[in-house]
Amino acid sequence: MDQHTFSRMTKARAQLVLDAPFFGVLALNLELEEGDWQPTMAVNGKKIVYNTEFVASLSDDEIKAVLAHEVMHCALKHHLRRGSRDPELWNVAGDHVINLELLASFNPKFVLPEPHLADPQYKGLTTDDVYRLLEQEQQQADTDPGESDDETESQSGDGSDGGSEEDDSGKEKEQTTCGNSEDADDRSKDVPGNDSSSGSRDENETDPLQHAGNNSP
Ligand SMILES: [Zn+2]
Repeated sequence: MDQHTFSRMTKARAQLVLDAPFFGVLALNLELEEGDWQPTMAVNGKKIVYNTEFVASLSDDEIKAVLAHEVMHCALKHHLRRGSRDPELWNVAGDHVINLELLASFNPKFVLPEPHLADPQYKGLTTDDVYRLLEQEQQQADTDPGESDDETESQSGDGSDGGSEEDDSGKEKEQTTCGNSEDADDRSKDVPGNDSSSGSRDENETDPLQHAGNNSP
């Protein structure tokens, strides 16, 4: 484990407790775990998994904001409420809702890393609502070739990441890191010490990982 990164994570979490106790206290309930198998940061209701390089690319304030972002996935129970919805789209919807909420806060003021999903047209909507709109948008794009640009935008506008992703092939990767339970769980188990450190209670039912927005919080 990279001690420097872990230390930055715990410090950011401590700062979050001071600056935004609601998020901070929730964050304290989540184990912090290094996990470079996913590109950014992810949460599954029990732990926050972070990519070392991704964290290295962030300022302390940005780490704090991404932690708040992950905590909100849990607070809004995104990992439990997805049901049969498309994992990627569900996560995109959740990211819009969360980031709009964080950006609306003035005390503290959150600094989200760029790029991030926060389309103002979704302001005030629930994740379920945004999901429906995104789904409609996608269906329209599917039926109207002229609209294909929109589809690309809605699916991959969030897809540029710390440097390992390409738009088209990225679609699959986004799913695995941002809500695809099967894949995320499988990978999760590949992390040495993962199971032993987090207890084995329903590890098989680990909630889908939600992360800081398809590589962009
Ligand atoms: Zn997210």
